[in-house]
Amino acid sequence: MNDYSHTVNDKHVSLPLGKIICVGRNYSEHISELGNSFPESPILFLKPSTSLVDFDGQLKIDSSFGSCHFETELALLIGEELKNCSEDEAMKAIIGIGLSLDLTYRDLQNKLKSEGLPWEKSKSFDGSCPTTNFISPNHFTNLNDIQFNLFINGKERQRGDSSAMIFSIVKILCYASQYFSILPGDLVLTGTPSGVGALTSNDELRLEIPNLLNASAKVSFFRGKQ
Ligand code: ZN
Repeated sequence: MNDYSHTVNDKHVSLPLGKIICVGRNYSEHISELGNSFPESPILFLKPSTSLVDFDGQLKIDSSFGSCHFETELALLIGEELKNCSEDEAMKAIIGIGLSLDLTYRDLQNKLKSEGLPWEKSKSFDGSCPTTNFISPNHFTNLNDIQFNLFINGKERQRGDSSAMIFSIVKILCYASQYFSILPGDLVLTGTPSGVGALTSNDELRLEIPNLLNASAKVSFFRGKQ
């Protein structure tokens, strides 16, 4: 469906496109903006590898399913298998840090939530995980203090910092690995800060980790078959 491949420091890495483990409700201001309750443990859900597309150039979004919200999230590229891992093993398994959009058909998600049904149709559809190039972790001084931003049409719309996460990066990996073997080539998305909203056609998006990562894409809507 697309030519996405994992890249670290702009170089292709030959790891398979795996599953994407996502965390919901990991920043308190975002929990408040959607009127959700605070979790006692990380809320996990999965996206399949078919949700991966490059966050670069054009972002094609099927507008057949109602509003499509952006959620900007720090993404971790995993290079080692993790199962019931320690925090030290989790830290060593991270081979890249980048940004993804956890695209969400919000109207559909609200409908599914209200009916007590799984979210996959609203969050795990084809192309629902546009992802940037990754930066190797040795470029970061502290994984618990990474700032990131989303700009739309030149205006800052989301600003996050891993220091404000309810569950830290390594805590998420350890917790998730109790349930799912995390394999080389899998991604872990760590939750969105506040400021989520609907995309519109022709929006110019820019994702940034100051001084380390800068990526741009333009939204184009289509309906049904491309
Ligand atoms: Zn999310």
